[in-house]
Amino acid sequence: MSKRYLIVGAGIIGSSIAREIASRRIGEVIVLEKEKELGLHASGRNSGVLHSGINQKPGSLKARMCVEGNYLARNFCKEYEVPMEECGTIVVAREQSELPTLDKLLVMGMESGVEGLKIIDKQELAERELNVHGIKALFSPNGAVVDSLDFLKKVSKDAVRNGAEYFFDEKVTSAINKKDKIIIETDKSEHIADHIVNCAGLYADEIAHKFGVGLNYSIIPFKGSYREVKNLRINSMVYQVPDLRYPFLGVHFTKTVDGKVLAGPTAQLAFGREAYNNFNLKGTIEMVCSRNFWNMASNREFLKLAYSNGKTAFFDSVFLEEARKICPLINERDLSPYRSGIRAQLVDKNGIMVDDMLVEFRENSTHVLNAVSPGMTCSLAFAKYVVDNMDKN
Ligand SMILES: Cc1cc2nc3c(=O)[nH]c(=O)nc-3n(C[C@H](O)[C@H](O)[C@H](O)COP(=O)(O)OP(=O)(O)OC[C@H]3O[C@@H](n4cnc5c(N)ncnc54)[C@H](O)[C@@H]3O)c2cc1C
Repeated sequence: MSKRYLIVGAGIIGSSIAREIASRRIGEVIVLEKEKELGLHASGRNSGVLHSGINQKPGSLKARMCVEGNYLARNFCKEYEVPMEECGTIVVAREQSELPTLDKLLVMGMESGVEGLKIIDKQELAERELNVHGIKALFSPNGAVVDSLDFLKKVSKDAVRNGAEYFFDEKVTSAINKKDKIIIETDKSEHIADHIVNCAGLYADEIAHKFGVGLNYSIIPFKGSYREVKNLRINSMVYQVPDLRYPFLGVHFTKTVDGKVLAGPTAQLAFGREAYNNFNLKGTIEMVCSRNFWNMASNREFLKLAYSNGKTAFFDSVFLEEARKICPLINERDLSPYRSGIRAQLVDKNGIMVDDMLVEFRENSTHVLNAVSPGMTCSLAFAKYVVDNMDKN
């Protein structure tokens, strides 16, 4: 009898896995999504960048998935006509002190197998990017920007074409193990499955805990807000040299497929897992009551980072200052508020932010605990990795 897979969450990770299982014809696939439509969370609120993989640690799962995923996603977008611009990415060093990190990024990228990387000098940078200030830069031709919502819709459409069934407006509330079957209860109905794949994004820890999995981890939400930048033309996506100790990239400039230029996203603690524009008291209390949060917050380096990121997020003048580091000609009147997204950052019991992607495989359940950025880029390769390993277990 055919195996029945039940996927919790129809973001880009859940939908890619649904598509992978369905296209391998290894069983029935059901996807449960608590929202009424696709893309209301990270998968529809991100920068839309298909990253090349330069700032991932070589040998990490994320580096492998990013390089392979970038290739698969670009091909998928071409085949399924997802709006995409293959404009490349540039990491800009503004001063001498940043050059060692730029060289390190080049080495890391080459070790991870990123193709076509090159360091460009001040003159070539000025020719490429009239509005960007820097003394040297790392150019990666494989970076691209896509319409992330359309990408998600087409991946899920392909999952459905291969036989997956989606149920919207069904929030998974409990899971009961009964012999070799699992009964999943939602706020509306009950589903029986042989294997559960937890892709619940901001709630992946809560779903995993229902299975007694990942008990040492919790998700801390980090909000990223964007500003739209008027009167600025960039040819590629433009990044600052990042602080490699943290998973955030600093304020940078990305394009959208419909011609906008965005600055951001910021990276400040969110007051609730889905508190895009508000303060959620229950979510905030839950977060600050977690041991993992306190262990993270008691680290001096983290506090320094949180303070400076908070200032960038809350004060327009500081945001402008950050943005001007690489595009000095921007004015305050060029910036207007744009949407925000919330990153589901996994933190362990010692308060350490988990940098790599993390999946826990069990006999009848699989839990995607840390599908951090660049999770959209990784998604199609990551789905293959998950399904290969799920079968081994
Ligand atoms: C601001 C920002 C910028 C980013 N930029 C990029 C980028 O440029 N490039 C890139 O590659 N990546 C980027 N990322 C990362 C990328 O967006 C994520 O890694 C990816 O979207 C994660 O997908 P997901 O399916 O795990 O999560 P989600 O999209 O959050 O999907 C999870 C789904 O699970 C559902 N769900 C949750 N709980 C339940 C439940 N109990 N029952 C049923 N359904 C449930 C949710 O409603 C949601 O739809 C960015 C992320 C953010 C936040």
